[in-house]
Amino acid sequence: MTYRVAVLPGDGIGPEVMEEALKVLDAVSKQFGLEFEYREALVGGVAIDEKGHAFPDETKEVCDWSQAILFGAVGGPKWEDLPPEEQPERAALLPLRKRYELFANLRPAVVFPALISSSPLRGEIMGRGGFDILVVRELTGGIYFGQPKGIFLEGERRKGIDTLIYYDWEIERIARIAFEAAMKRRKRLTSVDKANVLTSMVLWRDVVKEVSRDYPDVEVNHFLVDNAAMQLIRDPLQFDVILAGNMFGDILSDEAAMLTGSIGMLPSASIGEEKGLYEPVHGSAPDIAGQGVANPLATILSAAMMLRYSFSQEEAASAIESAVVSVLGEGYRTGDLYRGEGIKVKTKEMGDLVAERIL
Ligand code: NAD
Repeated sequence: MTYRVAVLPGDGIGPEVMEEALKVLDAVSKQFGLEFEYREALVGGVAIDEKGHAFPDETKEVCDWSQAILFGAVGGPKWEDLPPEEQPERAALLPLRKRYELFANLRPAVVFPALISSSPLRGEIMGRGGFDILVVRELTGGIYFGQPKGIFLEGERRKGIDTLIYYDWEIERIARIAFEAAMKRRKRLTSVDKANVLTSMVLWRDVVKEVSRDYPDVEVNHFLVDNAAMQLIRDPLQFDVILAGNMFGDILSDEAAMLTGSIGMLPSASIGEEKGLYEPVHGSAPDIAGQGVANPLATILSAAMMLRYSFSQEEAASAIESAVVSVLGEGYRTGDLYRGEGIKVKTKEMGDLVAERIL
């Protein structure tokens, strides 16, 4: 079986970190006998320059052909003066999410033991092993999309409206993704809502409870979002999978990400019924682009997520994650992680080190 992967490196450090992710996938391919077919396509600013649009038709065709999309990063100062709807991020990522109905956003926030000192949290809160949380956020519904939406005139006054709507099927499908993920992890799930004041969140809680009956091995609890935000800082070790709607997930995933202290380490997945998009959380980092110093680990870990969630190759995914843990444990650091101790390496060396440790 050959896995079809669309490779969209994008702008800035995107191509630099993508090269290392492909290097690691090559090592995985050899070690585990997996076959990948890659097709590369233009996206973001570079696509605007060459094709006149951030998500051109040729790129759509490559993405349609693929089973999974590996995405670098888009954007940069060159395109910042374009109208908002033509900006690389908005004109590339939003249509990608929409075209493939990528309704589930998975953002792991992991503090690797070797990087505990990067977290803004005190050592005793972090424990000795760091933490490992997966935020599962609903991405295509909720208050960001509900209608009516807009600023309306009411007599002399203006009125701003957003509408929070969730259908039971939307809650059910994202809940199933979260429960399935929990089954592959430590089997704990915290569902986040605001059921004390929001009616749509009463439905959210009801549906999560209904779905939980199909997963008796998963221990479930329900937190109000304000409590969840507090508990994340007070005791992050209590969490395994956090399930949340679009807005609450947006906020909590950034909070969890900040607790890790290193943006160059954070991968993400956006998954639909048929396809997944895998990308680092960071942007195109124009300030360091072209210098060969970017941290490729977020993109390498995104490739691991692709193996796990699009191709069900758990062993290969874990091999990448273990290789990253080894490299960090041995003291190798890219500039963003370097704090005067250990061995400072550049992008390519970091990719080589991880690839060599795929066992
Ligand atoms: P950014 O994530 O690109 O950079 C923020 C800071 O983190 C910079 O100092 C950068 O050097 C550093 N950094 C980021 N990734 C790194 C890595 N892998 N290794 C080492 N250091 C790293 O965010 P920004 O500066 O706000 O945005 C820059 C551009 O990227 C903008 O055009 C923005 O629109 C775009 N952007 C794109 C995406 C995306 O493609 N999904 C996401 C966020 C921002």
